[in-house]
Amino acid sequence: TPRVFSGIKPSGGLTLGNYLGAIKKFVATQGSMETIYCVVDLHAITVWQDPDDLRNATREVAAGYLASGLDPSQSILFNQSQVSAHAELGWIFNCVARVGWMNRMTQFKEKAGKNAEKQSLGLYAYPSLMAADILLYHATQVPVGEDQKQHVELTRDIAAKFNHDYKVDFFPQPDPVIDGPATRVMNLRDGTKKMSKSGQSDMERINMTDDADTIAKKFKKARTDPEPLPETYDGLAERPEARNLVDIYAALSDVTPAEVVTEYAGAGWGQFKPALADLAVSKLAPISEEMARMMDDPAEIDRVLAEGADRARAIADPILAKTYEIVGMVGR
Ligand code: ATP
Ligand code: MG
Repeated sequence: TPRVFSGIKPSGGLTLGNYLGAIKKFVATQGSMETIYCVVDLHAITVWQDPDDLRNATREVAAGYLASGLDPSQSILFNQSQVSAHAELGWIFNCVARVGWMNRMTQFKEKAGKNAEKQSLGLYAYPSLMAADILLYHATQVPVGEDQKQHVELTRDIAAKFNHDYKVDFFPQPDPVIDGPATRVMNLRDGTKKMSKSGQSDMERINMTDDADTIAKKFKKARTDPEPLPETYDGLAERPEARNLVDIYAALSDVTPAEVVTEYAGAGWGQFKPALADLAVSKLAPISEEMARMMDDPAEIDRVLAEGADRARAIADPILAKTYEIVGMVGR
């Protein structure tokens, strides 16, 4: 059976973008395939994280997975740093990937802005650690948001170069799985930027743990144009903020954006935004309540992560050992 791997960084609280672009898809994939979902804490520290905040965010991402319906008896759930093979294979891939490849990564450019020289070396190299995360399990399917497409393509390049350089057919070519209406949920204040948990202002994102009033307020203040909703989805082509809210509505209610536009054709924002807020609250409130309940018992979350890490190691360690052998490392 095909193996699925994906992860989320504990770099802050989970957003609606993480939920719709990643977690909801992880849950949908579970059961039909072998699924491995990670809290990628080694990636989080590519930018500064206060240690207590990091511990808390790691447990919160795990709680978000569990509360959304990931079942540790069906999926392997763990945090990356407990499986040291990730860092080890990441090093090998640092020696396979080329500097020129990293220079083309748009996410580094976006995150670094004008300050590339001041960023950590880890932030620059992080796509090769991500390649290790995936290939360490010989995973072939990687459900991600649109922003991660380039990194999964780089993973394919790294796998191909490794196989070519060492004349083996060892690492498979993984495919990004990017589908549905919410592959790139946009920032509520700026329709040209994606919603991110590490974004500057809390008003630009919906957090999975926001309460009903906060969700209503954030959608109410979300930037839009003054026009009502059009008659057809094509009418949103040049209206990124409006289209974003329609896409969010579609993803939350599991219908197509075209169906949402048909239902709300001609409606003004005073009608659509409260409906969207109610929908979001109805989907997120049960999850955030469960997350809060789980966060009261961090030891139980840690237990689930440790058990998942044991199962992850059982797959990863032999693949790492074989990799070392291919590369020519002397071992036992
Ligand atoms: P950060 O700002 O720290 O990078 P993030 O919100 O981008 O945080 P990540 O941990 O980098 O979250 O990404 C986790 C998963 O969520 C990835 O699959 C990513 O593609 C997806 N994702 C993140 N933001 C969005 C978004 N706005 N829309 C859809 N998917 C998203
Ligand atoms: Mg990100």
